[in-house]
Amino acid sequence: MHLTDKFGREITYLRLAITDRCNLRCQYCMPAHGIDIVDRKELLTYKEMYRITRILSELGVNKVRLTGGEPFVRKDFIKFLETLSFNDKLDQINITTNGALIAKHIPKLEELNIKAINLSLDTLQADRFKTITRRNVFTETMETLDKLLESSLQIKLNVVVIPGLNTDEIVDFIELTKDKDLSVRFIEEMPFNGVGQKTDDEIWNMKKIYHEIEKNYNNIIPLKSKRSSTSQNYTLEAYKGSFGIIPAFTRTICNDCNRIRITATGMFKNCLFDDGVFNIRDFMRNGASDKEIAQLFINTVHKKPKNGFVAEANRRDNVSESMSTIGG
Ligand code: SAM
Ligand code: SF4
Repeated sequence: MHLTDKFGREITYLRLAITDRCNLRCQYCMPAHGIDIVDRKELLTYKEMYRITRILSELGVNKVRLTGGEPFVRKDFIKFLETLSFNDKLDQINITTNGALIAKHIPKLEELNIKAINLSLDTLQADRFKTITRRNVFTETMETLDKLLESSLQIKLNVVVIPGLNTDEIVDFIELTKDKDLSVRFIEEMPFNGVGQKTDDEIWNMKKIYHEIEKNYNNIIPLKSKRSSTSQNYTLEAYKGSFGIIPAFTRTICNDCNRIRITATGMFKNCLFDDGVFNIRDFMRNGASDKEIAQLFINTVHKKPKNGFVAEANRRDNVSESMSTIGG
């Protein structure tokens, strides 16, 4: 049995939010005072997360990304990784993190066969880091980046392009790929900031980001990406790493979408832009069997909206929640 939607897209990738809590307060993700976090008992337990992942892996999901909030702020996250790594149906367990807490865990992550780390880093300047994240942990994050570069883990740097804050660093980030084997991905800013929408003309979309890069380089080589890749990828002649642009807001990648999301409270999302289809936590806590849960996943995936615009149009409210509650 597989998870396939009515447009023939097969779902093989789960993004699971470990928590809604975070140690940073990034401007594009939440207001300065943070978001209203839920009561601890509303969060999925690790046991529930393990069960969900096991059932989904029996339905063909072979890749899991653990995100949040900040996954490493949840107690016993490393123990959960150990347990999850016993599931041999999963080819890849990846993590998205802000990196501030993880330098010491890197050897353990290698040992557990974690494949890739997406490290979120929006600036290479200490003072700006503090402005963007509203926290003073630039040194810790850079230490993590250095240690990751020495490790066997694949690294992707996630850079949200924030008008007025870091657009002048696009070239600095690309220069990191000159002699480092890493992939920098520029992400269009989305209105998931706990407050609501910015006007469209403020947003640096894919075209504008690419134009900025083109202005500075004449040796851009497009790379062939996997069909389900979220980014369009490029390298520069003689550069070791690569860079890409993620059209998170302009949503030109939906045709090949292979993913679903489960939030930290168990809300199942067929699309980043929908407002949640059903709560798997309540279903499990009401005694559902594995078979019933699997059937619910199959039926729900079948209704996956064609793209992020359709999903947004079907929402009850406007987009305004924080990415930290969705699991970015
Ligand atoms: N705390 C971890 C981190 O920052 O990597 C994981 C969760 S965070 C919500 C996941 C990703 O979403 C990060 O790369 C972050 O930069 C991105 N993100 C958060 N808010 C966003 C927004 N409004 N627009 C675009 N990307 C956003
Ligand atoms: Fe925290 Fe990640 Fe959101 Fe920044 S982007 S506030 S690190 S959840």
